[in-house]
Parts: sequence; C-alpha cells; structure tokens
Amino acid sequence: MVSRPTRMTPPVECVRLFDAAAGLDGVIAIHSTALGPGAGGCRLWHYDDVDGALADALRLAEGMSYKNALAGLPFGGAKAVLRRPAGSFDRTALFRAFGRAVEALGGLYVTAEDVGTTVADMQDIAGVTRHVAGLPPAGGRAGGDPSPWTARGVFEAMQAAAAHTLGRDIAGLTVAVQGTGNVGADLCRRLADAGARLVIADPNPARRDRLAAIHGAEVVHVDDILRVEADILAPCALGGALNAESVGGLKARLVCGAANNQLAEPAVADLLMARGIAYVPDYVANAGGIISVSAEYLGEDEAEVAARVARIAPRVTALLERAAQEGRSPAVVADEMAEEVIAAGAQRAAA
Ligand code: NAD
Repeated sequence: MVSRPTRMTPPVECVRLFDAAAGLDGVIAIHSTALGPGAGGCRLWHYDDVDGALADALRLAEGMSYKNALAGLPFGGAKAVLRRPAGSFDRTALFRAFGRAVEALGGLYVTAEDVGTTVADMQDIAGVTRHVAGLPPAGGRAGGDPSPWTARGVFEAMQAAAAHTLGRDIAGLTVAVQGTGNVGADLCRRLADAGARLVIADPNPARRDRLAAIHGAEVVHVDDILRVEADILAPCALGGALNAESVGGLKARLVCGAANNQLAEPAVADLLMARGIAYVPDYVANAGGIISVSAEYLGEDEAEVAARVARIAPRVTALLERAAQEGRSPAVVADEMAEEVIAAGAQRAAA
C-alpha cells in the first residue's frame, strides 16, 4: 500500500512576525483561502528556532484547510505559531503585537486559541483587531474556550468509531489518553461518565494527578502511554505521536483523539491499516473547536455550533464505512473528500 502524495500545495501566504521589544517571534502561515479567510489558532510553544515554528505552522495551516473544508465551514486554513520567550514575559505586549500583525492582513487570517494560548490572550488581541475569536461568549452567541466543543466532537467521533470498528459502545472499554490538557481533561470526563476505564499520561503532574483522583484513572509515564493495554488510544497532546515505531507497539484497535497532525508522516496511515488498527483522521474528529470559533466570528449562536458538532459522528461513520468498502485508509479517503471540497470552492471563486 502506498499513500498518495497529497498535501503538497504551497501556502498562499506566510508572514514572519518579529518584534523584539514585545517578545514576538514566529510566523503566520495561510495555506488556503479557496473557501474563505484562513482560520486557525495561535500556538505559543517552545521552539529552538523560527525554522521549527515555520515547519509546524505550515503543517498545521494545511491541516486547517482540510479540517475546515470537511466540517463544511466557509473558511480556508491558516495557523500562527509563536516562539514562547524564555523566562517571564509580558503576555499582553506580546499578543497585542501579534494582533497588530493579524490586523495588517486585513481579514485574510482569523485567529483563536491553540496550545499555549488562552481566552485572556484573545482578549488582548481583540484590543487591536476584530479578526479574532475565542472571546468570552456574550448574549447566547457562540464563543469562549473552544476546547469543550472539541472534546465533545472527539467523544462522539469515538463513540461512532467504536460502534463501527469494535461493534460496541464505550462502556467497559479501556481508553488511553495521551495529554490531559484542556481537551484531554474534558474528554476524560465524558469517557468516565460513559463508563470507560481510563489510562492517562501527561508530563504536567498537577493536571494529570487531579484528573486521576477524580476519575480513578490509572497514570502511566508519558513514554508508556502509546503501548499500554487499551482498546482505544486518544492522542490529545502535541502532533506526531504516531510513527513507525509507536504504531508497531500499539495495543489499541482504534485511534481517535484531539491532537492535530497525529501521523508523523502520511505513510503512517498505511502502517495502521496493515496492523488492522482503525484510525479516525484527527481533523475529522477534532473539528468542534474550529466550528465554535468560526460560529463566533460569523456571529452565530450556540445552537448552530451544537448542530455542526453533532454532524461529526455521522461523518466519521460514513468515512469509516467508505474506507472499509474501498479497502483504503480513512486518512486517505478523508483527504480526498476535503480536497474535493477545496477544489470546488476554488472553482466557484474563479468563476
Ligand atoms: P493543552 O496545551 O491544554 O494540553 C496539551 C497537554 O498535553 C498538556 O497538558 C501537556 O502537558 C500534555 N503533553 C505534552 N507532551 C506530552 C506527552 N509527550 N505525553 C503526554 N502529554 C503531553 O492543549 P489542548 O487545547 O488540550 O489541545 C490538545 C491537542 O488537541 C493539541 O494538539 C491541539 O492542537 C489539538 N486541538 C485542540 C483544540 C482545542 O479546542 N483546544 C482543537 C483542535 C485540536
């Protein structure tokens, strides 16, 4: 089996961000605007140099194009990746400087939270540009931290995938959750409520141990979470968890989680398939957050968000059924479906 050489399109625009006084150092990558402005969160993380941030931004922006397209959103794909300054720093100064760069793009890019950024950061950005979402909700409108919507979508995607792949519901299954941050913690709560047994790992002991105490989860070392005995693996940390080595050691029969870019490279989808492990493509399962963010930006209400998030699970079922019928990886099938949506948008824009 060979993966198609998809996902090679260059970004529409890439903006280098640097403001030494404000501690701003990073990039905005806009991958596609075929369906609308590029939408995707702003990540603040440790990178040794800006090349690392750029590589991450390009991959993540591309993923956003596919995610937004398949979720039926009127947005292209983009992402901002900022290097976290060493030591203490003035967050407001940093995010206002970032917001000015977003404003200079005139609406080509819409930002929101991602790993390492918060609602308060978005409020700082909103002081200088309106092209930001993830602000506190007001008057029944969509808004706020998108993580709970992401967790809800991942949970429902997992339910659908468990029914399709394992022929049963979540109750009694063991789920290994890698990363107990904003999404991972909410997902654990939903899984525990549904009767799953949890195994968790996170390098942050405070988050991890609090969660373990609440839900009676088993805690394992971060190096072991990918090979524990579990029915389902939910990658909810950073990207690239699934590579040739980790897939070789997986015990789970299903992978469904929130992390973006879970496959270290596209060919890992074939390795999963060869091992008989079902994979719910990350951007299909984790679209809840961007669904909330885009609804907020468009001024829609929470009911619209709930309706769109509810469509994730049936989409997963349809995707897994089609992949099984065609004997292909769900990752490849999802990419093709998203590319068709993007191509149709580009055609409409050109007409
Ligand atoms: P977060 O920063 O709140 O949580 C990430 C957690 O992963 C942290 O607790 C961190 O300590 C932990 N972690 C880091 N390395 C780890 C490792 N090797 N093993 C185990 N844990 C590790 O981020 P989040 O908002 O929960 O997002 C989690 C993932 O989901 C990210 O990949 C993010 O891009 C993706 N995602 C998030 C949203 C959202 O709405 N927040 C939406 C779509 C996708």
